Amino acid sequence: MQSQSVVILGSTGSIGKNTLDVIGRHPESLSVYALSAHTRIKALAKQAARFLPKIIIVPTDQARDKFIQYWAATAHPLPVIRVGAQALIDTVQEQEVTTVMAAIVGIAGLPSVLAAAQAGKRILLANKEALVAAGDLFMRAVAENQAELLPVDSEHNAIFQCLPERQRHNGAAHPAAGVRRLLLTASGGPFRTYPLAALDTVTPEQACAHPTWQMGRKISVDSATMLNKGLEVIEAHWLFAMPAEKIDVVIHPQSVVHSMVEYEDGSVLAHMGQPDMRTPIAHSLGFPHRIESGVGLMSLTQMGTLEFEAPDYQRFPCLKLAYEALAAGQTACIGLNAANEVAVAAFLQGKLRYIDIARVIAVTLEEVSKPTGQQPESLEHILELDQYARITARQQCQALYT
Ligand code: NAD
Ligand code: MG
Repeated sequence: MQSQSVVILGSTGSIGKNTLDVIGRHPESLSVYALSAHTRIKALAKQAARFLPKIIIVPTDQARDKFIQYWAATAHPLPVIRVGAQALIDTVQEQEVTTVMAAIVGIAGLPSVLAAAQAGKRILLANKEALVAAGDLFMRAVAENQAELLPVDSEHNAIFQCLPERQRHNGAAHPAAGVRRLLLTASGGPFRTYPLAALDTVTPEQACAHPTWQMGRKISVDSATMLNKGLEVIEAHWLFAMPAEKIDVVIHPQSVVHSMVEYEDGSVLAHMGQPDMRTPIAHSLGFPHRIESGVGLMSLTQMGTLEFEAPDYQRFPCLKLAYEALAAGQTACIGLNAANEVAVAAFLQGKLRYIDIARVIAVTLEEVSKPTGQQPESLEHILELDQYARITARQQCQALYT
């Protein structure tokens, strides 16, 4: 494997920590150039003391002071500390950087991952919200600047591995030849068999108790509502240039088959593995080589039965809303993502009922779908539409939570 100098955007999150775990296994070829975090500054200082990055990025001067305070316990020289969102953009574009792990959650990660594409970097993409909101703009930036795009989301990483070699990692405009359908698997989350009538009283703790994956709180709620799978349908549309009608979702509670590609001749290639994000992270870091990830042997005999079932739109209305947004276009996708971010944050704060997440999204989609003229073509325009959708979504949250 060639040497890589990696920036991890969102290093203190679930994906960020797993990325460092894999990097730590390959000190001869992978080094950490920069780490960024938004809140857990103590954890960031600990990571920095272990991996000795050149640069640290924090959101505020206060966070900077905290970092310096925690650093006092180490004997190493203080890294360069940069402050604010612009520092994320400036850092990913630096010449020494070869690889950017985009693991910030939400649209907050869009400007920096777009900057990485514009600078032609190798991008390991976990931040699906960025692609949902800015699909066309982002994929064009990847293609025009010869950036290399490798999907980290387990389903997309699985599909990437099942597609013909080197088919899709720099923003090609056409679907792979001979592919009939992409099949995204979904665990169905913690409420797959929960009584429908009882969904209005479920708590954030219940929603975040995912049966097979350990993840951040926002994506855990997204998995419970299956809006996550909806975002992933949109993500697959952009990554693999695949029309929505050729992307299907199937529930597979065991999370062993991570996704499938069906070819015209009837062949179906499935990617299997343990539900451990270190596998797709190691795949994307090592590509085109295979590198050790720390994931142990998979025991087929202990796995038991693998089940597959169709998703029920009554239980998972958010999945249907996502397909509708994809059909409606980019503005609707921005609205879908923004409304969901607002609604999930309100739910996690105890200020919205679980079942109202779908209502907030549905009303916001209607509002943003009113004819406004042209499709968004710049980052500024996308962020403007995102803000507009958030205002509508917040009003809805307030109206629904009395
Ligand atoms: P997380 O909440 O555990 O971590 C998020 C990281 O982003 C943290 O380091 C946090 O400090 C940083 N961050 C949060 N808000 C920020 C802001 N406004 N500005 C800058 N940094 C900010 O989330 P996660 O589970 O690691 O997920 C990260 C991304 O990866 C998400 O887009 C998620 O959908 C995607 N993803 C995650 C998994 C998973 O297994 N966790 C799987 C597939 C895709
Ligand atoms: Mg996924």
